[in-house]
Amino acid sequence: MPEDFAAWPKTEVHLHLEGTVSPETLWDLASRNGVALPAASLEGLRAHYAFDGFDRFLTLWLAMCNSLRHPRDYEEMVDGYLAACRRQNVRYVEAHFTPYNHERFGFGGRRALEIVCDRLRAAEAAGGPVTRLILDIPSESVPESGPYTIGLLEQIAEPLVVAIGLGGPEEGFPRSLVAPHFERARAAGYPCVAHAGETAGAAFVREAVELLKVRRVQHGIRVLEDPALVRLLAEREICCDVALTSNTLLTIHRDLPSHPLPALLAAGVPCTLSTDDPPFFGTDLVREYQQAHDVLGLSPATLWEMNLNGLRFGLADTALRRRLLLEFAAWRQEHP
Ligand SMILES: [Zn+2]
Repeated sequence: MPEDFAAWPKTEVHLHLEGTVSPETLWDLASRNGVALPAASLEGLRAHYAFDGFDRFLTLWLAMCNSLRHPRDYEEMVDGYLAACRRQNVRYVEAHFTPYNHERFGFGGRRALEIVCDRLRAAEAAGGPVTRLILDIPSESVPESGPYTIGLLEQIAEPLVVAIGLGGPEEGFPRSLVAPHFERARAAGYPCVAHAGETAGAAFVREAVELLKVRRVQHGIRVLEDPALVRLLAEREICCDVALTSNTLLTIHRDLPSHPLPALLAAGVPCTLSTDDPPFFGTDLVREYQQAHDVLGLSPATLWEMNLNGLRFGLADTALRRRLLLEFAAWRQEHP
């Protein structure tokens, strides 16, 4: 099959909508809204996007959320995301969105969600991409963000919202903190996913699986520290949504050639490939596929299966999943 990854119809199920804002857009947003940024110029901001750890990443991410003050700011964020999808032929996305941060900075979480959903729905009606949302609880503020996010999920029946998620830092924030909130979310009908095993060890993945009952794990790469847990993920088909460049910048796996992804696949753990927060890590989805192929030596056939895993393990309804799987199969038949 062709190795032109740009041409492939693609899925991406681990992408933060707020994390798609480029330095140029953030500079414009902050300037016109009078929001202070941790840089005095656009050049300085671009340099700030070069991360050396999770704390700096989080500081900038929160400054970005604070810079969204008007409906058109949210529309601009979504339009930038949609343009990047179309440029790369990304057809299906499960995007993480964190309403609590938009509530916290004053715009209103529900209002932000409605604007985002309207924009995404219009794009889908116009031919795509198809986007579904995972509403994240940020781990650094669970006592406030947990009840807020679950309360919001219990109020809505928004077809674009398909799951509850857990984002934010790991160390100092055990996954078990959100267990009662995730239980409420499941009772309200939402499947659960969670970030785990990214910056902290395999015990965090175990908590996500056993206490939070997640369908997928974002990252999960440090699960390899616990062989019994690796077997459990493989047996239960709990998918890990891996992001290579993000991992080389924020985790202990700084050396891409020794990234755990091939070992996870060899152990039978289903995985997908994503960017996480592309401009923050100077990457895009085509580049991630290229790196997985060129540096990790994964074959196009293996990468195509990972691509399909975004649909197989995705949380869209069955009819939509089938429609997209048929679309992808038709493309594959035309491009043997
Ligand atoms: Zn993430």
